[in-house]
Amino acid sequence: MERSFQRRTFRQTNPDSHTHRSLRRSFHNRSRQRTENKKIVQVKKTDKITKQQRSYVMSRIRGTRTKPELEIKSMLDGRKLRYQPKGIPERPDFASKKLKLAVFIDGCFWHGCPTCYREPKSNKKFWREKIERNRNRDKTVNRSLRKNGWKVIRFWEHDVRKNRTRVAERIHRAIE
Ligand SMILES: [Zn+2]
Repeated sequence: MERSFQRRTFRQTNPDSHTHRSLRRSFHNRSRQRTENKKIVQVKKTDKITKQQRSYVMSRIRGTRTKPELEIKSMLDGRKLRYQPKGIPERPDFASKKLKLAVFIDGCFWHGCPTCYREPKSNKKFWREKIERNRNRDKTVNRSLRKNGWKVIRFWEHDVRKNRTRVAERIHRAIE
């Protein structure tokens, strides 16, 4: 009695617990099985989309797991920059409205870093267009901020990984 209560509590308070995840996975497998039982044509179509979405999701996970901007955030505490402040449509990772300073930490994959970016093996066209759109948006964002008198600094994710102290120092210099 007590045991089962504890187990239930654990699952409720830990929505991402292993048990919960595997439950969700088995549900997903079951519903996929049902889809496969329907029509062959439909399965092929579904599968193709699923693959693309899966690789999209996987790289998203890869990109967000370590969060380089959070490493920098911990080094800027108590400074004048706010982390992802609201009310700036260009959505910089750090910014000071007073100083009109915007800092972006660009993910090497998502923003097509010339050093690190490797084109995925499948869905090349999809990825090429996606990264291209991101890069164009970066340029638009820079222009829009600068036009309004902001200073914009961008770092690559790999800058943070290799030497976050140097990145933090450069930000501090821009503040002073
Ligand atoms: Zn890079």
